[in-house]
Amino acid sequence: MSQQVADYDLAIIGASFAGLVAARSAALRGLNVIIIEAKSDPGARIHTTGIVVREAAETVDIPHFVTKRIRGIRLYAPSFKHMDLFAPGYAFLTTDMAALMRWLADEATRAGAKLVCSTRFTSARRENGLVHLETPAISARYLLGCDGAKSQVADAFGLGKNTKFLIGLEAEYKGLDAVDPRLLHCFLDSAIAPGYIAWAAPGPAVTQIGLATKGDAKPALQKFIEKSEHLFHYSKAEIVERRSGVIPCGGLVRPYACDGVMLIGDSAGLVSPLTAGGIKLSFEFGRKAAHAVADHLLNGGPTPETVLDGDLPRFHIKSRLRQALNFGPPNWMYELMIGTPPLRAIAQRLYFHRRGSGGSFDDFSKNLSES
Ligand SMILES: Cc1cc2nc3c(=O)[nH]c(=O)nc-3n(C[C@H](O)[C@H](O)[C@H](O)COP(=O)(O)OP(=O)(O)OC[C@H]3O[C@@H](n4cnc5c(N)ncnc54)[C@H](O)[C@@H]3O)c2cc1C
Repeated sequence: MSQQVADYDLAIIGASFAGLVAARSAALRGLNVIIIEAKSDPGARIHTTGIVVREAAETVDIPHFVTKRIRGIRLYAPSFKHMDLFAPGYAFLTTDMAALMRWLADEATRAGAKLVCSTRFTSARRENGLVHLETPAISARYLLGCDGAKSQVADAFGLGKNTKFLIGLEAEYKGLDAVDPRLLHCFLDSAIAPGYIAWAAPGPAVTQIGLATKGDAKPALQKFIEKSEHLFHYSKAEIVERRSGVIPCGGLVRPYACDGVMLIGDSAGLVSPLTAGGIKLSFEFGRKAAHAVADHLLNGGPTPETVLDGDLPRFHIKSRLRQALNFGPPNWMYELMIGTPPLRAIAQRLYFHRRGSGGSFDDFSKNLSES
């Protein structure tokens, strides 16, 4: 029987962090790549806060003009008593997410990938060594499902699905001048954000006020806004956008791959169950998946899932800590612990991976440029 010729080497479903980075890397390695995206534009209807850790920014060299440097963390107890955490040489980035997505899409297409928007993947089948998609009607030698927390690629191929989620809710404010722009403000409060935290994240153009809760709790964003009005004076600012979304927190799904198909990013459950950060892992494993697919298709290398399997995080400890957090430490415990060396050590490790410094944040930050 003659070998069928595929329309594409690699089809990618979802033009977001994982899909766009994978597309660029695969196209740069010489694969004929198509990305299929349901939205009319990758920068439309953003569903993430978009705080990027430095390691993630370095993986794809995110350009300075879509980011703002955040120098440290101000961690608040429910009474708003707080402590500051920072690490010289380290900064988080908040981002203009729509602009970052469009930049990632431009990079992928400049590398040679074809981006097809306003097209929803519905179903596909594996036949004669190729993957045949129903919509659009194309064939590919390999399929990457980068279609987010509730993956239709996983449905189509009977792969594992995320079953545990955090629920996030956010409002984007213009003119929220009372928020100290040097810091990411994180609020511990089991009455308002059970299982996670609330936050105020000053971005390049707007400030995001949000919270996430464990899956069976209702995110009380309005309650948080009312409670912190005296700190940030929301009533003097303007809401320009609202968003919500689910964040997988159950770890790597099983199976995450089958013959000719692999999930990457949120679809694979590649999100830290503890911090709920998924952008770094999407970038890292989007690239690694693309390299493995290219090696498999171009050089007869091992199947991509064999290459990635040893590398993918299992989140054993973080999943246990997630279960503990879901019980919600009582607020009196947060009050007792804020400012103490044990909480400082845990938070410093969590946010800065053991880097750290004591002393005054104001002294540290006074000579740094503000951008
Ligand atoms: C409120 C909230 C705040 C967050 N904040 C942060 C943060 O600050 N830092 C961090 O690291 N992580 C954060 N996360 C997690 C982070 O957003 C995700 O881990 C990340 O977006 C995963 O990227 P992805 O490319 O795997 O999938 P997604 O970003 O979910 O993208 C999936 C893409 O696939 C498309 N798609 C879906 N189905 C189809 C289909 N059938 N056909 C075609 N296209 C389809 C979607 O339109 C979308 O563009 C947050 C999540 C939420 C919900």
